[in-house]
Amino acid sequence: MQIRCQHCHKPFGLSKDAVIQALNALETQNMHHYDVHCPHCSRANHVSKAELQRAAPNWKKPEEESAN
Ligand SMILES: [Zn+2]
Repeated sequence: MQIRCQHCHKPFGLSKDAVIQALNALETQNMHHYDVHCPHCSRANHVSKAELQRAAPNWKKPEEESAN
């Protein structure tokens, strides 16, 4: 997904794997947004869970995959 830095306003990409890792972290830690660090200015950007889910529509909650 493409993110525009909220601080320096430069765009940068977040890989699908990174999006999925972020969603897993949000789910297990019960958070509503994820801090993504800008590669240009290295400051944190808040990305909402809804935005991440839009970028990875096939993502499933971790507990739905391991049912044992
Ligand atoms: Zn930045």
